[in-house]
Amino acid sequence: MLTLATLLVPRLAVANPHDFSAWLDDVRQEALAKGISLATLDTALTLQAPIERVVELDRRQPEFHDTFWNYIDRRVNESRIQRGRALLDEHQGLLAQVEARYRVPARFLVAFWGLETNFGQYTGGFSVIDALASLAYDGRRSEFFRRELFNALVILDQGHITPEAMQGSWAGAMGQMQFMPTTFMHYAVDGDGDGKGDIWRSLPDAFSSAANYLSRIGWRSDELWGREVRLPRNFDWSQASLDNRKTVKAWTALGVRQADGEPLPDSDSRGAILLPQGHNGPAFMVYRNFDVIMNWNRSINYALSVAYLADRLRGEPEWRTGRDADNRRMTRDQVLTLQKRLLALGFDPGGIDGILGGRTRAAIRDYQISKGLPADGFASVQLLERLSSEDIGQASLGSPQETQGRAAEG
Ligand code: CA
Repeated sequence: MLTLATLLVPRLAVANPHDFSAWLDDVRQEALAKGISLATLDTALTLQAPIERVVELDRRQPEFHDTFWNYIDRRVNESRIQRGRALLDEHQGLLAQVEARYRVPARFLVAFWGLETNFGQYTGGFSVIDALASLAYDGRRSEFFRRELFNALVILDQGHITPEAMQGSWAGAMGQMQFMPTTFMHYAVDGDGDGKGDIWRSLPDAFSSAANYLSRIGWRSDELWGREVRLPRNFDWSQASLDNRKTVKAWTALGVRQADGEPLPDSDSRGAILLPQGHNGPAFMVYRNFDVIMNWNRSINYALSVAYLADRLRGEPEWRTGRDADNRRMTRDQVLTLQKRLLALGFDPGGIDGILGGRTRAAIRDYQISKGLPADGFASVQLLERLSSEDIGQASLGSPQETQGRAAEG
């Protein structure tokens, strides 16, 4: 017979509540040994069982690989740009002070703020301690989340915030700018002089902390993040990669121009060319500040969205080139099929895992080169269609008759 307790207490198949309480005791002992006070542990570390929803969110696999333009259009839309401009204006005095002190432009601070939490509107409704304890207990990324949990306890112990107000995302990202506890420990600062780093409710603290972080990881106040560029038709597409840096002069010699066709500045600064939606999509040249943005979040699309919003906030025009690129999202199943087809044709994608990583891009590039196609290494539905029409008879174990039959069909 089902008891009331069985019905009410959500449980994970793997998590026996006794195991969890033993595990939590171990965390308490280690926290005490690290010097965290008993009072903090008693008020904060009170979770009875891992939060099922948090573990689910951590394990979920995206159903789609979004395209660059879908990603950008969803995040940098007209209403967000207008709201950002209004907030730049509203907090002009504070932002000017922060910019003067940390040498990070206000428009970038507001861009991060807009993309992280829609300017403080969605900061996440989970208890950070409970979410981190759930993830540290779950086996997938225990070590990482256990360290974040201890740092979150230290932040409470230092009195920056109360356990009830320490809210965040399911993954433990906190406040206006979604700092992880370890980032808070290294970079959060007290901007309003009350002795606390309250990145949840104090904008001076939140802006100063973000600016301090960007400044300390290498923001250069005298450089751009990068720019939209135009590539010549005969460009060697395999040159487009974040790790292939050349001077602006060297790119100019290869035919790269500004998006409006004007020459690039005559500069010895080093940049890389990015094609976030393949050779038919837009092209960007990125400099060192782009790496700083990538350090905040290691996603090229995310970093470009920050850069784009920051530029739009100061009135720069829309990105327009490459709008006619194949904009169909790929499903995970389509990526799996693409990887299987590549492998069958003799181009090893480094595993059939549904993830578009470096090995898969290299396999695509090799395939493109073998066919005389633009070698951008970019996965698209169009490419999948082409791969699906390829005769794999010779590469696979198909009989000669079958091969002939397929070739006749295709
Ligand atoms: Ca403060």
